[in-house]
Amino acid sequence: MYSGPGVKTSPDFPIPDTMKAWVLGNPGELKLAQKPVPVPKRAEVLVRIDAVAICATDLEIIDHGPPASILGGMPFNKNFTPGHEYMGTVVALGPGVDEYRIGQRITVEIHAGCGQCKRCREGMYTACHNYGLNYGDVDKGHRANGFTTDGGFCEYQVNHINTLVAIPDAMSDEEATLVVTAGTAMYGLTELGGLVAGESVVVTGPGPIGLLGVAVAKALGASPVILTGTRDNRLKIGRELGADHVVNVRNEDAVEAVRRLNGGKGVDYVVECSGAPNAVNDAIRMVNRGGKVCLAAFPHQETPVDVAHIVRNNIYLYGIRGEGKTATHRAEAFMSQKRFDATKIHTHTFPLDDLPTAIRYAKDRVDDAIKVVVKAKGVAAHRVAAE
Ligand SMILES: [Zn+2]
Ligand SMILES: [Zn+2]
Repeated sequence: MYSGPGVKTSPDFPIPDTMKAWVLGNPGELKLAQKPVPVPKRAEVLVRIDAVAICATDLEIIDHGPPASILGGMPFNKNFTPGHEYMGTVVALGPGVDEYRIGQRITVEIHAGCGQCKRCREGMYTACHNYGLNYGDVDKGHRANGFTTDGGFCEYQVNHINTLVAIPDAMSDEEATLVVTAGTAMYGLTELGGLVAGESVVVTGPGPIGLLGVAVAKALGASPVILTGTRDNRLKIGRELGADHVVNVRNEDAVEAVRRLNGGKGVDYVVECSGAPNAVNDAIRMVNRGGKVCLAAFPHQETPVDVAHIVRNNIYLYGIRGEGKTATHRAEAFMSQKRFDATKIHTHTFPLDDLPTAIRYAKDRVDDAIKVVVKAKGVAAHRVAAE
């Protein structure tokens, strides 16, 4: 029977000893396996995963490895379960946990920092200096589920309470999986960037982070908000999420268009989500003097950058990893107040058993897929039975 030292469970949410979990074999190869259901320790809970969204970073990890790091190296053939954008129901409490209750619906942030390094002490726990030191005899307290520890393409996972975000009943499972994506955009714009209402923003690249970047920027009072990209259907969704202007870069020069749309001066912020080869050089020409460029995409090759332009124009350039400083909680506040409708980027749902199909839809953008969500079978029935 499922149990652990000091762990609280409830007969309303029976927990099996083993669960279905997708495991990464060779690059690109996922196998469905059985794993023991993990047991929460101090300050941790067990989450029954009700829905998990597929992220472009999952596709990177499954096919190429980084940014996942398991046992200090590549994640292949290490019994590793990827997946990080999940939500669910708290079903067991670790010793001493009273911040959450069994049966509560939550969504998760990815990174639990060690809590003791310089960056964690500053709230920048996604840049934890003990990143990945959480295996074998080494346990520095860091976890990044789906990156350095087992993730969400399974039925249950353990989460530190600092990574939980409570969600209202009115928020669907699918919408709740998108909170962390909005949280990433929030972190880049406010906590790292310092955006205040009335400043101007360009988002380059209408992927999930870019589209929710538009929504968050608009909800924060940015003006104007301009979205650039190559696909008209995605630019249209960007408009629905709050973009004042959209620019299809196949039809016009993106830098010239941005300058024209913002009175010839360029904007205060660019959030670069495209990873395109010339994206950084374009971004530094879209911002005004003293403007800021947030880099949120992983380009595949090194690219030359016009450093002299950055120096002469006092431009700030910063990378963003994940969603620190509890930005995810602020993103959830926007979403539960219906300041924007994140579900516009959710396009498909598949059962957990069909994960390879779901991944194919996400990777090949089958049927214009944007955010593809996977749900464990029987979840709806469980919830009815428990209530
Ligand atoms: Zn992600
Ligand atoms: Zn740390």
